[in-house]
Amino acid sequence: MGRRPIVGGNWKCNPAEISKLDGLVANINACDTSGCDVYVCPSPLHVGLVYNKFTNGACVAPQNCNFKGCGAYTGEMAVDQMVDMGMKWCLIGHSERRGEFGLPTPVESSELLATKCKYILEKGMKCIYAIGEPLPIREKGIDAVLAYCVEQLTPFKDILDPETVVLAYEPVWSIGTGVTATPEQAQETHAAIRKWISENVSPKCAEGIRIQYGGSANAKNAPELSACADVDGFLVGGASLKPEFDVDVSAKS
Ligand code: PGA
Repeated sequence: MGRRPIVGGNWKCNPAEISKLDGLVANINACDTSGCDVYVCPSPLHVGLVYNKFTNGACVAPQNCNFKGCGAYTGEMAVDQMVDMGMKWCLIGHSERRGEFGLPTPVESSELLATKCKYILEKGMKCIYAIGEPLPIREKGIDAVLAYCVEQLTPFKDILDPETVVLAYEPVWSIGTGVTATPEQAQETHAAIRKWISENVSPKCAEGIRIQYGGSANAKNAPELSACADVDGFLVGGASLKPEFDVDVSAKS
């Protein structure tokens, strides 16, 4: 059996107006989810407004969580609260949270993210783990790219499981820049990551684990990227706020 494609819409810190949420939800509800898993990452403030509004099986995946549950953790979102609200997925490791852009956000290390992932899995939820290299690493070539991704994956070695973890390969230089990885770059990198998993976790895990591509994916480039053997769907930022998201979803289903 092939891997079931999975496409996520990362709304990041959008939209500014609550009045726009209904339109975005309708956009997702218009997606055909029969051949593809679909999830949406609303902004933290909007999660509670949309989490029960999806009618086609699309899931809500918050953009972050803590690793301690409820309690005196100001500003955090607890997995326990997500479970209570019936959520099944959580996104962690996005480069905008790791601090790759030099924004004044906390820098989240891969070790910390593995702790978060373990907590998510312990509570019965599933995890989307984002990885990917910045431009200076890409410029050094595929070996450097793989080494960078391996460093991000190593703390996850014992918890990678096709049933509960999805990887999102998102090269930092392509996020929000309009510069998409070429299908060759995406395929080469996804295949290298899968090979590493095969050799360091298990061939079975490597065969089953889904690896999404993220970084300026849109309706135009989705068909070519989705034709790559090791690309199992997309994590879409900017284009997920537009009606074309539907096309991205169908590109891999
Ligand atoms: P982008 O964002 O599609 O706007 O490049 C992708 C992401 O950050 O997940």
